Amino acid sequence: MVEFSALKKEIEDRGVQLVAVSKTRSVSEIMSLYNQGQRHFGENRVQELVQKKDELPSDIHWHLIGQLQKNKVKYISPFVHCIQSVDSLSLAEKINKEAQKHQRKINILLQIKIGQEASKSGYDIDILKEEIQQLTTLSNLSINGAMGIGTFTSDEDVTRAEFNRLKGYYDLLKAEHFSTVDSFKEVSMGMSGDYRLAMDCGSTVVRIGSLLFGRRG
Ligand SMILES: *Cc1c(COP(=O)(O)O)cnc(C)c1O
Repeated sequence: MVEFSALKKEIEDRGVQLVAVSKTRSVSEIMSLYNQGQRHFGENRVQELVQKKDELPSDIHWHLIGQLQKNKVKYISPFVHCIQSVDSLSLAEKINKEAQKHQRKINILLQIKIGQEASKSGYDIDILKEEIQQLTTLSNLSINGAMGIGTFTSDEDVTRAEFNRLKGYYDLLKAEHFSTVDSFKEVSMGMSGDYRLAMDCGSTVVRIGSLLFGRRG
């Protein structure tokens, strides 16, 4: 664990946004960071997010960072700040529809597959290229950038190559589809073990859990 204010300063001094990943953490653990000024928190399960949200201050900006089933979008659509894990057109269409019902725009990131493990979720880049045109027509979504999860490895070269690949995908999408869209500016990559490397590779959002809260049980 590191001191919150030092980590926050290190990250924000580089113009990067810190999302505190609070999955499995208690309401009081979250409140402790909230009281030190943290407002962006990330959760990976809908049920846990919805429960905690009701017990915590309403000015928290909640990020959904885990796989999302279409039938659960409705539970978070009234309040979620950003869904970082959008990996299909059908999911994006569902979020768009739910956002319409609440007369709001929902921020999303396009999660793109960069890791080696076959199980890693995220868009296959070739499929994303086929669907991107349709994605940009969904008027109740604000597509703010790309997100990726690196392979779980201690080999820094592997992780660096994956971060560079995600940044490359982001740059390509920006140039070809979002060059006039100011809000398309985020690259969400980097966790407790590799956030510095991620920032060196162009990350604008880091998602940090264990370094802030201690190891998950
Ligand atoms: C759990 C999680 C994190 C944070 O991981 P730490 O290693 O605890 O910092 C970041 N991103 C995603 C998608 C996660 O599921």
